[in-house]
Amino acid sequence: MNKQELIDILADSGKNELLFKEADRVRKDNVGDEVYLRGLIEFSNICKRQCKYCGLQSSNQNIERYRILKDDIITYANKAVDMGYRTIVLQSGEDDYYDTDKMIEIIQELKKMDIALTLSIGEKTYDELKAFKDAGADRYLLRIETTDKNLYKEMHPNASYENRIRCLHDLKSLGYETGTGCLVGLPNQTISSLAEDILFFKELEADMVGIGPFIPHEKTPLKDAPQGDFWLALKVMALTRINLPDINIPATTAMETINPNGRIIALQSGANVVMPNVTSREYRAKYEIYPGKICIQENPEQCSACIKAKINSIGRYVSENKGFRKINSDKN
Ligand code: SAH
Repeated sequence: MNKQELIDILADSGKNELLFKEADRVRKDNVGDEVYLRGLIEFSNICKRQCKYCGLQSSNQNIERYRILKDDIITYANKAVDMGYRTIVLQSGEDDYYDTDKMIEIIQELKKMDIALTLSIGEKTYDELKAFKDAGADRYLLRIETTDKNLYKEMHPNASYENRIRCLHDLKSLGYETGTGCLVGLPNQTISSLAEDILFFKELEADMVGIGPFIPHEKTPLKDAPQGDFWLALKVMALTRINLPDINIPATTAMETINPNGRIIALQSGANVVMPNVTSREYRAKYEIYPGKICIQENPEQCSACIKAKINSIGRYVSENKGFRKINSDKN
């Protein structure tokens, strides 16, 4: 689709059901009925950045900070593997405590397990990204957040849009399965820029795209901004599926946070991935990028059983392979 076609669909709420059905069909034809589960380890909520929407930003004094060290990361990952997970995602704020050497050690330990490993640890230099890849990391998630450069600048003090783009290109050229995505509903974000976001995913040749509604956090400068619209976020996701038919698309936790059935609706509107948390309860509430995060009272076993039951209830099933993009499925 071209930009105008994307805008027309995003602006028209009359054809939503048709759009979601079509995205579901494209999903089924291209990636089938299996759902990939990714075990998410949120290993540090310490962050040097000041992204205006994010509760982990360094200026938030109202949050108890934590770091999970290597041995505990390995313990959580082992438990996740025992529960059947074949991908581990390591996510954190931008925490310089985990320097290249520490990350390499963690990556090498995790890669002794029979899993795919995804990193989601923010912007890094080419050399760092290369070192992580050489150590065995398979995938990397780095949302562009918005392709509207002025809005990007406004949302990310002391950061650069160009550097984020540079990271994404480096990830692609280093052979990572590369994930990006955007927030939907940032203050002053336009429909036109959401259309540009989708075109950007296509141009980058993203392997994974995560879309979520913006949820205001009380301890951030955006505390009084309105929450992103669930259905608009779902439409951006559905259009992403239709335009990038064979990629992996998560039903994001943020969607379920603002709609009690959000992940199932997303799985029926183009998504084929879910990322349950596999750390223990004590950390979940503290990794508060936005408020109201689901499952903070649950432990990994409960999350795993709950999500599997939900997936089965809609006639889908949990995949037993590592969940590479179909074009890379020889790695599974
Ligand atoms: N530090 C890493 C990981 C960021 S957390 C990085 O820079 O990539 C993962 C994602 O949470 C972010 O990319 C952002 O899109 C999302 N997020 C942050 N704050 C949010 C909020 N208030 N509402 C919804 N999603 C949010």
